[in-house]
Amino acid sequence: MPTEAVYLHDASLRTLTTEVVSYQPIASLSEDDQSLAKNVDPEYAAMTTRQTILYAQGGGQPSDTGTIGAVDQEPGFTVSLVRKAPDGRILHFGKSVASNTAFTEGQAVVQKVDSAKRDYHSRLHTGGHILGVAMEVLMPEMKEVKANHFPKEASLEYEGLLYNDSKPLLQAKVDELVQKDLPVLISWLEPGTQVDERAKVGDGPVRIVSIGGLDHNPCGGTHVETSGQVGSVTIRKISRQKGITRISYDVPAAL
Ligand SMILES: [Zn+2]
Repeated sequence: MPTEAVYLHDASLRTLTTEVVSYQPIASLSEDDQSLAKNVDPEYAAMTTRQTILYAQGGGQPSDTGTIGAVDQEPGFTVSLVRKAPDGRILHFGKSVASNTAFTEGQAVVQKVDSAKRDYHSRLHTGGHILGVAMEVLMPEMKEVKANHFPKEASLEYEGLLYNDSKPLLQAKVDELVQKDLPVLISWLEPGTQVDERAKVGDGPVRIVSIGGLDHNPCGGTHVETSGQVGSVTIRKISRQKGITRISYDVPAAL
């Protein structure tokens, strides 16, 4: 049963009461599910719930961290990694606070997101889209091929070459887009709709994120509500390798 990814519809929720679907040691998961738990202590456990507000790593954005616990009790489970399986189940990997902690199917639990980290990830993601708009406006001939919104690694990659002399121009454009405090618009398109050549049409509805209507990006990430809420976007470095230009950027870790 696919997990309902509540964060796709409301990224502002930081706590949610939902229900346990499964809870088991990572070692007892299928091989495919275990392969999602890379770099997680194999002694840890995996929990799935009916819904989740914890972002599953993907689309260039890192996983949320947080806690899950029985209602009206201290959280019994610390979530260190969230991953989505191909069938749509979202697995929460983490550590039980006490070795005798057990969660049973159907049990009501409260999820909490590590809020400061989520805010930073959302600002980084929206900052990447703002940089994308600036590039579309200034260098429409260059095609975006990769996006990374991880802390310390955040960058967009383009086919074609761009040099450091473009940095002031690009910085001025992203500054303008942040200052305009444009709304970050989320919409859903039915399968079969063609937005533009970059919007790949999938089997299910496609989620489109737009900075003030200036672009239309298929995206499953979390965002802040306006471009101004990013604080600022700093173009760090423009580098080139094998015909690909990488533009790295950063946003404030806290506002
Ligand atoms: Zn995105």
